[in-house]
Amino acid sequence: MSAQEDRAHVSRPEDARHSNHRIADRAERFRFVSRVPMLCECSDPDCQRLFLIELAAYRKVPPGCFLTVPGHSVDEHEPTTRTDEYWQHASGISSLRAP
Ligand SMILES: [Zn+2]
Repeated sequence: MSAQEDRAHVSRPEDARHSNHRIADRAERFRFVSRVPMLCECSDPDCQRLFLIELAAYRKVPPGCFLTVPGHSVDEHEPTTRTDEYWQHASGISSLRAP
């Protein structure tokens, strides 16, 4: 079994999230104070776009949420936060809507 087959078990947004965790850890080690470039976590396997986010804001993203460049989408998730630099997507947003 190749490493490529191994990776197929992980969805594209989770895979990108994995890479972004490593970027955040490295940025923290080098004491980045400005915004950090992160990989778009959308569901498009060919997407290679980057967005900028402050490390503190990135660390506050709840588990199960994904970040993308504005306008990109994540399967079964809806954008909950839209900024000029990135969108945050969460699942099950309809249950959070006020009656
Ligand atoms: Zn994307």
